[in-house]
Amino acid sequence: MIDGHAHLNEIEDIEAAITSAKLAGLNAIIAVGMDVESNQATLEIADRFPEFVHPAVGYHPWSIAADQIERNLLFIEEKLPSCIALGEVGLDYKTKVKKKIQREVFERLLLMAKRAAKPVIIHSRFSHARTYEMTAQAGIQRAVFHWFTGEKDVLSGLLDSGYFISVTPALAYSPFHREAAAFAPMERILAETDAPVEYEGRVSSPADLIFTLRELAGIKGISIEDAAIITERNTRSFYGLL
Ligand SMILES: [Zn+2]
Repeated sequence: MIDGHAHLNEIEDIEAAITSAKLAGLNAIIAVGMDVESNQATLEIADRFPEFVHPAVGYHPWSIAADQIERNLLFIEEKLPSCIALGEVGLDYKTKVKKKIQREVFERLLLMAKRAAKPVIIHSRFSHARTYEMTAQAGIQRAVFHWFTGEKDVLSGLLDSGYFISVTPALAYSPFHREAAAFAPMERILAETDAPVEYEGRVSSPADLIFTLRELAGIKGISIEDAAIITERNTRSFYGLL
């Protein structure tokens, strides 16, 4: 079992979270960042738990501030080569940051990922078609559309392009998310928690990956064990984690 997307820097007691993740049977966690500060904290956590926590650096659309863009992009450019992926990045058309600025930043980030030959962890909300289009146009080979809840035609397109989606504990209650998980082939699905996101009022941690796998197994009509084995294999191959 691998948690393919968690915000470890936002977890209060990281020692306890890592210990319970290992007890729950996790073999690794992909830790994502959102801006310079969270990227820095994520890199420090990865240093504390080598071989278990694999860091990605990113610039989340929620975190974009006009006067901080260059500083953030410079940091990512410098750190990306030693990270497992670029993320979390993308477009969020429900957030206050101007769409045009989001697209300019996302475009520059995609080019960095391409240059560094790194996979991209993508956030998209009310922007699925545009996010997919920009990723494909940038010539990105490996991308995961995290917690995908978008339209069926966008999903078909991104699967045709060889991209992945990831699923979270929200499978338990989100009809759009369940539909995406049902539609995508098992070989293109990564499992994650997006911890410490709250699901139905409960703060999550990476050990909750078991809830994601239980829901996914139910949707796919397979055992939880098979869901764990297949998603771990997918995650390893997607991130080049051997
Ligand atoms: Zn996230």
